Amino acid sequence: MAPLSPMMQQYFKVKNEHKDQILFYRLGDFYEMFYDDAKIASKELELTLTGRDCGQEERAPMCGVPYHSCEGYIAKLVKKGYKVAICEQMENPAEAKGVVKREVIRVITPGTVIENSMLDEARNNYIASVCVEEEKAGICFCDISTGELRATEAFGRDLDDRLTDELSRFVPSEIIFNDELLAHKQVTSFIKNRLSAAVNLMDAELYESESAEKSVREHFGDKGAALLEEHGATLLPKAIAALISYLASTHMSGLERLREISYYTENMYMNLDIAAKRNLELCESMARHEKKGSLLWVLDKTSTAMGKRMLRSYIEQPLVNAAIISRRLGAVEELVNVSILRSQIMEELSRVFDIERIMTRIVYGSAGPREYKVLESTLRHIPQIKVLLGSVRSDELKVIADDTDSLEDVADRIGRTLCEEPPALVKDGGYISDGFDSELDELRGLITHTKEYIAAIEQKEKERTGIKGLKIGYNRVFGYYIEVSRLNSALVPDDYIRKQTLANNERYITQELKELEEKILTAGKKVLLIEQRLFGELRQDVSAQLARIQQTAGAVARLDVYCSLAQVAAVGGYCCPVVDNSDKLIIKDGRHPVVETMLPDTPFVANDVELDNGSRQIAVITGPNMAGKSTYMRQVALITLMAQIGSFVPASSAHIGIVDGIYTRVGASDDLSTGRSTFMVEMSEVADILKNCTPKSLLILDEIGRGTSTFDGMSIARAVIEYIANRRKCGAKTLFATHYHQLTEIEQSFDNVKNFNIAVKKRGDDIVFLRRIVPGGADDSYGIEVSKLAGIPDSIIKRAHEILQQLEEGQAVSPGGAQKKKAQPDEYQMTLAASMGSEVEEKLRSLDLNTLTPLEALNLLYQLKAMIK
Ligand code: ATP
Repeated sequence: MAPLSPMMQQYFKVKNEHKDQILFYRLGDFYEMFYDDAKIASKELELTLTGRDCGQEERAPMCGVPYHSCEGYIAKLVKKGYKVAICEQMENPAEAKGVVKREVIRVITPGTVIENSMLDEARNNYIASVCVEEEKAGICFCDISTGELRATEAFGRDLDDRLTDELSRFVPSEIIFNDELLAHKQVTSFIKNRLSAAVNLMDAELYESESAEKSVREHFGDKGAALLEEHGATLLPKAIAALISYLASTHMSGLERLREISYYTENMYMNLDIAAKRNLELCESMARHEKKGSLLWVLDKTSTAMGKRMLRSYIEQPLVNAAIISRRLGAVEELVNVSILRSQIMEELSRVFDIERIMTRIVYGSAGPREYKVLESTLRHIPQIKVLLGSVRSDELKVIADDTDSLEDVADRIGRTLCEEPPALVKDGGYISDGFDSELDELRGLITHTKEYIAAIEQKEKERTGIKGLKIGYNRVFGYYIEVSRLNSALVPDDYIRKQTLANNERYITQELKELEEKILTAGKKVLLIEQRLFGELRQDVSAQLARIQQTAGAVARLDVYCSLAQVAAVGGYCCPVVDNSDKLIIKDGRHPVVETMLPDTPFVANDVELDNGSRQIAVITGPNMAGKSTYMRQVALITLMAQIGSFVPASSAHIGIVDGIYTRVGASDDLSTGRSTFMVEMSEVADILKNCTPKSLLILDEIGRGTSTFDGMSIARAVIEYIANRRKCGAKTLFATHYHQLTEIEQSFDNVKNFNIAVKKRGDDIVFLRRIVPGGADDSYGIEVSKLAGIPDSIIKRAHEILQQLEEGQAVSPGGAQKKKAQPDEYQMTLAASMGSEVEEKLRSLDLNTLTPLEALNLLYQLKAMIK
């Protein structure tokens, strides 16, 4: 086989070191991809697949993207979970001898992006590192784009549950791990089926204790190492060291952006698994997977990207510490009450850009001059925010005021250094302010004032020599010269150096002219170099203030979240909940925050709830479909959760004893990808809930057992309630909705189970939903009536009533009308018409005219007319 061309040999050398990445190989103005990379990229990016001679018979499959617009293409690939290696030309092709030198300068992966275009400003982007050894794991989550590094250790028999809980808490876009994790099938299948994360199995040698500890100490100093020691964390250093090594392998510079390890323990947050987050529609709606229709959508009135991200993490990680929650509530309360302060702060915040991510790009060296100006303009608003915070009273707002550094020095440093409207790129120059550096000013002056400088020298030399006809000219060979007529050459001073003799003239140069010429010719290059050096110094100086800027960014984000929560509370008429460690869950006139916002024209019927670990532990809720059971149960869960993030709640009053977890089993599951039936998924979710919940948990169980036969389903549902009611086995506060109104009998056997139903009013054959929860069980499930409302044809409804009656009377179901004998077409039409007629009669007969409003009567007329058509 013919040998590969030299360029292709170089390509394969690089590719061999970046096997699991798509290699963007720079060729002139394009990044080209070859072979399998080209096939993948052409498919994913919809590019034309071409070929390139590679020395061999068959051409190498190839596709490419222009280098100046590569970011969008890379973003697309990374979003789909691919890793992209950027291989640059390291020398000027025009000057290169042989094949141009090329090197990979950066590997972009889903968890390591810092480019704005590849990140969602409203959410964190985490890379996780997991190190498992025996029954223990060290886990850390790092958002490179903001510099956040959260870390914890997990151990014990339920290690797999813990690991999946932690992964669902942060939903990382990339995970690195050691090979022992592969033995934990529950976790690996969770990663595969539930997270769309890129995965990287790391070399075992990265996980050696000694080198790992050394790496942590080198990166985070003695403070970081001491923190891990204090928590007795033995595997975290390994997980963190593997992470650092992985980041280094992507050629990221500026890793000093990761300054601090923030250690957390599982019992700092409420337990919320992925199912609960999804079912309660915390950050996206179940139906459309979008923010609209979620709790986040209702609560998010933030003004900054930092606030948006923080609010999301508050919602996904509610607290369990009453003191911290009360501090947050104190801040929100003050901002609810002092509405002028709130609107003034929100006004200032609306001009604050994403300091956290700008700082990341500054530290990593990828921010251009314009981003510095954005930082400057943002920092100009901080002193005003600090002034506004001068009068606050709540502890939390006072801390925010203290943490807010006016940072005027940093803003001034940028303001002095960069001009008003700098270009976007560092390489172009033209961004350093006039007057900032005298050498730069001189050089720039030189470039713009060349003519005047030359004229000045000419004038000076005329005066010095007394030669009136002396003039300065320029040619490519000698550069600048002084020309004097031969007649005057005797008057030329000694320091003139003769360069050329012409027929009538002599041409000279002087030291001064030579120096000026040198300066003018090199000024352009020098200007650029000086600008880049000064820009580098600016980068260093601003980066050196990272800690102060980061602290201020954190304070601003918290302030933004509190203003947002206060704004929603004030507009929505929410109340401040009492949050404590009691076992109470008492909500008066609670509303569902999302449903009431989604349906602004329908009055939302408020409802109470009272649960505790005593006689009101379990509420069995019956009521027809559509009555509002799910809405009611979800609203109780959401109000509890809102209280625990420090938000006001949609109710007239609320007393929330802290819950350690909210567990939900609601509706159909979308987990069919795991190869299990809906019923299997339902049952395994119930099993997980019962395994993990404690008496301090809140359980929302909706129609358990409905996925199987009535008797099986009812038996399972009953057994589950009995298990939860048993305080020695479970004892969690529970809302249990069911269609099996037979289950209401349990109330008689257990003193901690109470029945409730959602009231409906029967009007003739129809039902009216009152949406009000009342004590006691429902007498009927009204399934047939609800089906009628849904538009099931009346003939079916009528037949369903017949069947129901026969079943209730214990009779065998008699064959239906159409089955009695096979109808002839004509006969069938007749029967249909007749049955329509009788349906109309039936409908009229069942009408209770006394309860009919004029509008309803009119609607009914329309319906009747439609029926006889
Ligand atoms: P199913 O058993 O069929 O799931 P359900 O009893 O759980 O029904 P929901 O889904 O909770 O009923 O409610 C049905 C609709 O009723 C909701 O989409 C909402 O629009 C409306 N609704 C529910 N509760 C209320 C309320 N308290 N006030 C006003 N409208 C409500």
